[in-house]
Amino acid sequence: MLETICEVLLESYKRNWSTSRDSNVSIRHWDRDHFYITPTGVRKQTLQPDQFKKIKIVGNDWQELPYTDISANLKPSGELPLHLGLQRNMGQHKEVRVVVHVHATYCVAAMHAGIELNDLVKDFPELGRYTKVAPNVPDVAPISQELADACHKNLELDEYGNIKYDIVGIKGHGVVSVDTSPWRAFEHVERLEHICKIVLVSNKG
Ligand SMILES: [Zn+2]
Repeated sequence: MLETICEVLLESYKRNWSTSRDSNVSIRHWDRDHFYITPTGVRKQTLQPDQFKKIKIVGNDWQELPYTDISANLKPSGELPLHLGLQRNMGQHKEVRVVVHVHATYCVAAMHAGIELNDLVKDFPELGRYTKVAPNVPDVAPISQELADACHKNLELDEYGNIKYDIVGIKGHGVVSVDTSPWRAFEHVERLEHICKIVLVSNKG
């Protein structure tokens, strides 16, 4: 599935959900004590599967595992705390959990305009059929434990890894979506981005 993540990152880049070196994705299979995460500082539209970082979960901490020669020279995404908290226990995503973080343009614009993303389901009920949107996370510093904690709190992550929502917006920054495959996580962003675009184009936000 690392190849699929690369495809998702390329598609996200084409849709202006990210500039070259932003965005990060992790994936864990339930029967393994490690997960894979995208490296930091690498162009995501040309990312290759052998550039991923392999991260072992050690209690509340983590440690790097050897993977490939190329990846040995890279560092894991700065948003590792965000991913680690969601990958430590997988909750309802029993077999695979994929966490996608991108800077989707219209989602960020809508939050910048003061829109609560989870309010949009009132006017656009179709959104809520397949995607549960969490309350916005306010301004928090990127690549911080504070960002990770705020996202986990608003997704209502519990000690077993269950989450109540599929996607959460971070004001002035981006979104985090979670599902059982890279494309399913992608679709939560796509669905929310589409509605945010409609709202902003209508000038009735
Ligand atoms: Zn970001």
